[in-house]
Amino acid sequence: MLAVGVKPIIILVETQLPENLGSVARVMANFGLSKLRLVKPQAQPLDPKAIALSVGAFDILDDVIITENFEEAVADLNYVFATTAYQRDMIKAYETPKTFVDLIKKPEFQEERFGIVFGPERTGLTNDYMARCHKAITIPVNPDFSSLNLAQAVSVIAYEWFQSQSSQALKACIQLGKTTLATQGQMNGFLNLLEKNLDQTNFWRVSTKKPIMWRNLQNLFTRLDLTQQDLKTLCGVVDALSKSLDKKPD
Ligand code: SAH
Repeated sequence: MLAVGVKPIIILVETQLPENLGSVARVMANFGLSKLRLVKPQAQPLDPKAIALSVGAFDILDDVIITENFEEAVADLNYVFATTAYQRDMIKAYETPKTFVDLIKKPEFQEERFGIVFGPERTGLTNDYMARCHKAITIPVNPDFSSLNLAQAVSVIAYEWFQSQSSQALKACIQLGKTTLATQGQMNGFLNLLEKNLDQTNFWRVSTKKPIMWRNLQNLFTRLDLTQQDLKTLCGVVDALSKSLDKKPD
């Protein structure tokens, strides 16, 4: 469920390329955002290049609000975040996309209308625009190459917002196919078999080294999320190797 009413409004200032308008509309739709405002746009939202890049997100371009100045674009908002690739010589609190979503999840932000402001491709936001925003968001990137494409910057922040809002956010999961994760009992069975065979072949050489070596080996297997099938295979491997060693002539 998306918490309606607290969706950030995306505000693009003096955007130059119609392709970026289209790409921004597309990523907004990807991440459940719908309200786009343009301040003094240099490109038109219904430019064929914008429409082409928006793919299915034409409605966002069609519903766009265009203003001639920044003040008008933010007049009905309670809180405005600037975005910038680099920190300015001014007193301003900087958030990352993550700390930004943590902030707006706080109870005092629940009823607020807030906007995220993105600058023009060539220059970014001027310090004058920055000064009109409450806080800034900087996406942490390689300091030697810190400027993202406009639509990609929107995408990173919209992604973070969506993850924080959506109960349907995909949990990291392993595709297990027809098998299931091994039980601890199965894992112990395999580890006991392995240890017994390593003891028999004198794998440890120096017995005082066994505890640490064995702990490392156990950690190697336990961090792998092994399936029942994986363990059967591994037991088969250990078994086959031990039998071949038994047969080896002295
Ligand atoms: N040449 C400009 C880059 C503008 S990129 C400059 O050096 O500032 C267009 C917009 O994308 C920026 O104004 C900002 O809103 C956003 N953006 C780009 N990289 C970003 C980053 N690392 N963090 C936050 N916003 C970024």
